[in-house]
Amino acid sequence: MTKKLNIKDHNTLFQAEKYQKQAEEKRVFEAACSVQEVEDTVELLKTEEYKEKNFSREAATINPAKACQPLGAVLASLGFEGTLPFVHGSQGCVAYFRSHFTRHFKEPVPAVSSSMTEDGAVFGGMRNLIEGLENSTALYKPKMIAVSTTCMAEVIGDDLSAFIESARIEGAIDQEFPVPFANTPSFVGSHITGYDSMIRSILAYLSEKNGNLSYKRPSDKVNIITGFDTYTGNFAELKRILELMDVDYTLLGDHGDNLDSPANGEYNYYYGGTKLEDVAQAHNANGTLLLQKYSTKKVTKYINKKWKQDTITMSTPLGIKNTDQLLKNIKELTGKQIPQVLKDERGRVVDALTDSHPYLHGKRVAMAGDPDLLLGLISFCLEIGIEPVHIVCTNGDKNFAEEAETLLKTSPYGMEGKIHVGKDLWHMRSLLLTEPVDFAIGSTHMKYCAKDAGIPLVRIGFPIFDRHHMHRYPIIGYQGTLNLLTLIVNTILQQLDDEAPDHSFDTVR
Ligand code: SF4
Repeated sequence: MTKKLNIKDHNTLFQAEKYQKQAEEKRVFEAACSVQEVEDTVELLKTEEYKEKNFSREAATINPAKACQPLGAVLASLGFEGTLPFVHGSQGCVAYFRSHFTRHFKEPVPAVSSSMTEDGAVFGGMRNLIEGLENSTALYKPKMIAVSTTCMAEVIGDDLSAFIESARIEGAIDQEFPVPFANTPSFVGSHITGYDSMIRSILAYLSEKNGNLSYKRPSDKVNIITGFDTYTGNFAELKRILELMDVDYTLLGDHGDNLDSPANGEYNYYYGGTKLEDVAQAHNANGTLLLQKYSTKKVTKYINKKWKQDTITMSTPLGIKNTDQLLKNIKELTGKQIPQVLKDERGRVVDALTDSHPYLHGKRVAMAGDPDLLLGLISFCLEIGIEPVHIVCTNGDKNFAEEAETLLKTSPYGMEGKIHVGKDLWHMRSLLLTEPVDFAIGSTHMKYCAKDAGIPLVRIGFPIFDRHHMHRYPIIGYQGTLNLLTLIVNTILQQLDDEAPDHSFDTVR
């Protein structure tokens, strides 16, 4: 007879006597401050006085809503056929990137490291890189290795171009084996700049090496680049829209399949991704549509300048207005018509928005995330009458702040909105406690300040560690708009139920 496993969740596990005793001993050992002191500090942190101190903080960042540059480079690399992301630097960094992605996507993420240690930091990491490239090609049989760097390799000034050339001369990798690379120090930028640099590097490497840039073959194809997008459902939705519009396209950086592979009994390191030969021909396309602009600045510049191609950039197409714009952009680049089926879909979503509007109108929201996502979210909120109040963008810049402010001014619902560029989630906590809102939108990292403020968190963005399968549902397009609406309105309705006195615990809402 099989024995039933008794697996306890943390919630109950740490109530057991032995853990309670351990916690008490730890408190005594650390000479922890008194309960009263903790309570006083909690109250102080809720005040305007503390908020001012918090906002004058310059030398420290607490819980930033951003991740490392090489993490973005790893995601970009996973968008190409048979490509192994290789991070030159310390092993711990790569463990962090892999675990971050695995916790979000619930998928294994192949990425290797040159595992530099103290001797590498002193004498340079060339041997680590050469041996790493040799071992990786032998063990994992990739079609391409995409190299990014961590802080350590950048601080000591490792020369990737020279090291990779040395690897070829030594025979560690074949002369023709593709190894694009991007310098991605994390003391500047964030995951979106790392993504940008790596996509640019891969496009430049494959098109300039294998394609003849001076010879432009006529092509009806268009290129699409999603930007740093962690919703695998968005990839499926985008492809569905493109197919409905009968568009011949190349999705440059198609990491959706690699992070959503089926469990069929066989593990494959590489699943899906843009074909390398398609990247080599992408410069012949009619134009390129980029679905994010702040995570694709270098890529856009490269495509305009080197491929001499028309580009259209937009921020994440969330909501009706932005999806309309997405379809118009596709039509403009391809000349294809918007089919009736998409027009009907739009009508159904507008109908759903109207149904839910009474519960959303005038609700105040705080949000944090990447610049492109925030622009999409602000636009979506304004069109359904939600008022964005606190908008924190750790990795935003002046251009983003101006664009977001202009967007807020287009609607009476945006009048109270304030953009906080370069601020973190500890700043957000002060904002939530001094100027309350009804709910918050952000990644899992925002759950702590949302809990302290006693408001629900709608999890949208990256990373989402503590809810399952959110990334499988699209948030772009009309279908994605419906998913966003469902998520938000049902959170508000749940809150109404939770707070309802008996006489208002309604069956119908
Ligand atoms: S900040 Fe630098 S050292 Fe730290 S995990 Fe990121 S890349 Fe590695």
